[in-house]
Amino acid sequence: MSSSYEKTVLHYINGEFVPSASGETFTNINPFTNEAINPVAEGTKTEIDSAVKSAKEAFKTGTWGKMKLSDRLKHIHRIADLIDRDIEQVAHLESLDTGLPISQTKKMVARAADNFRFYAEMVKNRMVGEAYHVDDEFINYTIQKPVGVAGLITPWNAPFMLETWKVAPALATGNTVVLKPAEWSPLTANKLGEIIHEAGLPEGVFNIVHGFGETAGAALVAHQDVQLISFTGETKTGSEIMRNGADSLKRFSMELGGKSPIIVFDDCDVERALDACVWGIFSFNGERCTANSRLFVQESISETFISALKKRVLNIIVGDPSHADTEVGPLIHKDHYENVKRYLKIAEDEGSEIFAAEVPKHLSKGNFIPPTLLLKVKNDMTVAQEEIFGPVLTVMTFQTEEEVVEMANDVKYGLAGYVWTNDMKKGHRVAGAVDAGMLWVNSQNVRDLRIPFGGSKSSGIGREGGHYAFEFYTEMKVVHVAVGDHHIQQFGKKNIAASANTNA
Ligand code: NAD
Repeated sequence: MSSSYEKTVLHYINGEFVPSASGETFTNINPFTNEAINPVAEGTKTEIDSAVKSAKEAFKTGTWGKMKLSDRLKHIHRIADLIDRDIEQVAHLESLDTGLPISQTKKMVARAADNFRFYAEMVKNRMVGEAYHVDDEFINYTIQKPVGVAGLITPWNAPFMLETWKVAPALATGNTVVLKPAEWSPLTANKLGEIIHEAGLPEGVFNIVHGFGETAGAALVAHQDVQLISFTGETKTGSEIMRNGADSLKRFSMELGGKSPIIVFDDCDVERALDACVWGIFSFNGERCTANSRLFVQESISETFISALKKRVLNIIVGDPSHADTEVGPLIHKDHYENVKRYLKIAEDEGSEIFAAEVPKHLSKGNFIPPTLLLKVKNDMTVAQEEIFGPVLTVMTFQTEEEVVEMANDVKYGLAGYVWTNDMKKGHRVAGAVDAGMLWVNSQNVRDLRIPFGGSKSSGIGREGGHYAFEFYTEMKVVHVAVGDHHIQQFGKKNIAASANTNA
């Protein structure tokens, strides 16, 4: 794959693509070759201040939030249409930037267009209030108003999908937006800026500031004029953001890390469980928040299951992310690659057995970690407890349902879980017992957009998705209206009446 995207990626502020005031840039790297792709404007507080100022102005003047709903939603549909038109280009940019295989980025990009169409429909049909008729005296009703300036901070692992997942509900509900994309994957965020520009949204409604978390991201979080922060990223970053946003009392949505179990009982459809297990950990290069990174397989089938798993691992196609048949590509960045390697060393030191394919020699320039199984793992080992975020599966066995539920829950995360059994009573029981925000029974990770998304424990706070996003992206107002002459206390009136009597 060539590094041919050489133009500098600029911020998008107040309807214009602009460099940083300081002229500073950082270099975006191709994970397949570790060569530079392009410079990126490095934003700091200065650019955040001007993006927030333009978003605040656009919100205040009502060019967006008070626009006729049908007109606002036309813009949202137009964004979706433009994503569809440029689907190939977006998918290629995403693969170039992140190392994700092209067959997988194409699917994700299609989903990004759906995010906009879905929220256009939802706002029109499902953003509904409640009304109460109270004893012929009052009517109370609720309305949902946009909150103001939404700060959106996104990670690098599925950038376009996750950005649109936040931008679509934020805009459709009438907020204005400042997006701070991840510094390792600026290309498709930039493309989203180009698309939104072409869709003709009023100036200042949507803004992008590129840059690092500690500078640009932190300035967005601390900004007094930003009313909410929707964050997806690591758990420790989430904690830091909540600390830094405390002084300006923001609302937060936190989509954080995961270490999700897949529980394979001996009475399941083994072949399908195997397909789902392999896809669930090795798709998206294992850089997936909901990856089933901890396998618990029942002892009675563990030998056959693990041997089939090994065969699959040796046959997964590792290669150039731009090739249609590649199944696993390089990890996003050298630093992340080193971190995953560090975990493999820890696994070895902790007594786990590492089973992995060889990375072909011609791929030596890229950040390749081959699909890897960590065998003979115990649940209290570091590699069974911490998020590795690469193509690495820890494999453990269990005997009973009670034992596996306890092991599955003995971890700080609670994002997702997968259960495989043909005993449906057991399936429901275990799904109910695993501490996680989202459970799948006899299913890979497929998600309908109407369903809430989010984790428990250290995996997040709040739910986005479906109509649940309205709780976050809108301010709920209650209007109390008197429709009769209800009793009102008359403080001070008694004395006036008394003195009127005395004077008479
Ligand atoms: P990260 O936390 O390092 O960075 C995420 C974003 O936060 C980036 O844009 C970064 O620049 C910014 N940031 C970093 N420090 C900041 C600070 N102090 N203030 C403000 N912003 C700051 O995460 P990552 O490495 O980009 O992404 C991988 C992580 O994201 C994994 O833990 C993964 O599980 C998680 N993730 C979770 C979900 C989910 O829905 N739960 C989805 C995808 C990824």
